[in-house]
Amino acid sequence: MAEKLILEVVTPQKAVVSEEAQIVVAPGSEGEFGVLKGHTTFLTSLNIGTMRYEDASGKERYLFVNGGFAEVLPDKVTILAESAERRKDIDLDRAEEARQRAEKRLADQSEKVDIARAEAALRRAVHRISIKNI
Ligand code: ATP
Repeated sequence: MAEKLILEVVTPQKAVVSEEAQIVVAPGSEGEFGVLKGHTTFLTSLNIGTMRYEDASGKERYLFVNGGFAEVLPDKVTILAESAERRKDIDLDRAEEARQRAEKRLADQSEKVDIARAEAALRRAVHRISIKNI
């Protein structure tokens, strides 16, 4: 069995997490999944949502993840996301503003509104707010 499980969360801008984890839970597109060290290899796409992991000391950590992909190997979980933030780095005011913008767009009846885009923006904002409020 693998010695340790390493979690890497990477976006096009930066490495958000690179550390040992005891368990990783992520929002897979087929449903939430949990990984312990020694897990069978698999690859999945991710939904917009909340990720959590227990660090080496057993402390639970929360992150926002904006879709993307997860590669699970027995000793490593790699998350590649469009954007991701640790709970402490989420700006609550910014997320509240994004939520209000998205809600206004969705309430607008004009044909100019890209509904799918506004819904995705709303989902991102709502998840960020809920993580910040944990
Ligand atoms: P906004 O409309 O506020 O830009 P968004 O959901 O469209 O929100 P993203 O496209 O997901 O933003 O992310 C763009 C960049 O801004 C990424 O680097 C992301 O980490 C960062 N970001 C977005 N919202 C927040 C937030 N509330 N707190 C901290 N960082 C954020």
